[in-house]
Amino acid sequence: MSALDDARTLFTRLTGRDPEGVWSAPGRVNLIGEHTDYNEGFVLPFAIPHRTFAAAGARDDHRIRVTSTFATEPVEVALAELDALFPTHRQAQDPSGSEPAVPEWSAYVLGVAWALQLAAPDAARRGVDIAIASDVPVGAGLSSSAAIEGAVASALNDLWSLGLDPVTLAQVGRRAENEAVGAPTGIMDQMASMLGRADAATFIDCRSLDTESVPTGFTAEGLEVLVIDTRVSHSHSTGGYRERRDACERGAALLGIPSLRDASEADLPRAAELMDDVTFRRVRHVITENQRVLDTVRVLGADGPRAIGDLLVASHASMRDDFEISVPELDLAVQTALEQGAVGARMTGGGFGGAAIALVERDGVDRIADAVTRAFADAGFGAPHVFTVHPSDGPRRDA
Ligand code: ADP
Ligand code: MG
Repeated sequence: MSALDDARTLFTRLTGRDPEGVWSAPGRVNLIGEHTDYNEGFVLPFAIPHRTFAAAGARDDHRIRVTSTFATEPVEVALAELDALFPTHRQAQDPSGSEPAVPEWSAYVLGVAWALQLAAPDAARRGVDIAIASDVPVGAGLSSSAAIEGAVASALNDLWSLGLDPVTLAQVGRRAENEAVGAPTGIMDQMASMLGRADAATFIDCRSLDTESVPTGFTAEGLEVLVIDTRVSHSHSTGGYRERRDACERGAALLGIPSLRDASEADLPRAAELMDDVTFRRVRHVITENQRVLDTVRVLGADGPRAIGDLLVASHASMRDDFEISVPELDLAVQTALEQGAVGARMTGGGFGGAAIALVERDGVDRIADAVTRAFADAGFGAPHVFTVHPSDGPRRDA
């Protein structure tokens, strides 16, 4: 059964009636531009075919009830209680993170409902039931979180007749994740999901939030993107991610600029004198990665997708050596794909596990996937999950 059917079935089991509709939003892969988003820099993600579905329908009261194929039991609260559940800037008030008042998965859904109330405070709202199912792998760096936020935001935007535009809905999703869930992530994932277009990546300037749809030419050129999910788990909420953010803030402060977005490669010699070696290498990753994103957009337009391989490889090296967020499984995935003739390859997502991507010729997909799987077995690593994706459309109403 498809995830769409799963969501519908789950809704009916929960409520005893059919949903009013089913809405979905995609996960995403980041082609290039890692840990640049919260430095107000550049990213180039694309939405993938894997989607999260929200089957939803209004209620006669003012309560919201949510369930998911993940959940052991549904979670129900009054809409009026959401404000008390998610005091603004919970993360800032209590960085140690208090016990969440609701199960974490439900905070993604209820957090979107809460953030929509803040984005459109005057709209009249009815209660709602929501059932979630997904085929986006969780914690693989494919942003199942943005997919669930996007699906729920799209459903409520329609059911509550809010008329909010996709960029506003992306901001709602981010707010839910930052302040309701307490995960300090940037805006990239939500924008990539909300603005996805077939055969195109989304260039995002994370300061201005200006976006540009960038044709990739992957499909026309007979290229596929192989995702190699190492199944090594990561968590954005824990140490490594926070540490990298702190290092970037420290680096910007030492350079006397608001964020690393304001530095360029010309600033690197000065940065090397001002900071300790670790901070300098974190800063160097962000500065060079921003440049690689701009170069990738330019090269895609000028020379086509086969010409971006070196940029992908340089991005991986920078994350491995300077930002130090790779793991041996990711390095092996990238190295094996390149040895087998991939155009380019790099780890993608926040790091410390998750997935690598490889840009490969269509007729090389099986060979490269097999070689990676064999290499993992030889190294004594757990079997990776390997599959292909291509740039795909953003949210839609499916039923
Ligand atoms: P990812 O890289 O997949 O976005 P995150 O840690 O950011 O990883 O988000 C994953 C979390 O999002 C899950 O642990 C869960 O709480 C929530 N989530 C994602 N998909 C679903 C779903 N289908 N149902 C319920 N919760 C989900
Ligand atoms: Mg996420």
